[in-house]
Amino acid sequence: MFGKSSKINEFRLWGLLFTLFGMGLMILGTAGIVFWGQAGKVFAGIFMVIGMIAMLASVGVYFWAGMLSTSAVILVCPECGRHTKMLGKTDRCMYCKTKLTLDPSQATDLDDTEEKEEITQPQA
Ligand SMILES: [Zn+2]
Repeated sequence: MFGKSSKINEFRLWGLLFTLFGMGLMILGTAGIVFWGQAGKVFAGIFMVIGMIAMLASVGVYFWAGMLSTSAVILVCPECGRHTKMLGKTDRCMYCKTKLTLDPSQATDLDDTEEKEEITQPQA
């Protein structure tokens, strides 16, 4: 799953995972109070703190993804013809996962024949 989608989608996925992780820990912490009584409160406290950190991390990831997406390049994917966003010089299409690059010298590393044809040799 990881590394095979576009960077923006991957950031969103990580943000979602952190949110679910944080919420899960807080629910477990609350359950600790219900089932273990006094002893459970210690576990609940620890779980709540870790859960809060995970939630804050997810907010950070979402915020970072938002900042990055404002600097992303919007282009039309040559493979599926849809508008996609790119981060950096190489990224994947958000829809068809095709590898895309803005740097012609990096196109040779990719197994996409269409990209290879776009390489322009500088004149001597
Ligand atoms: Zn595409």
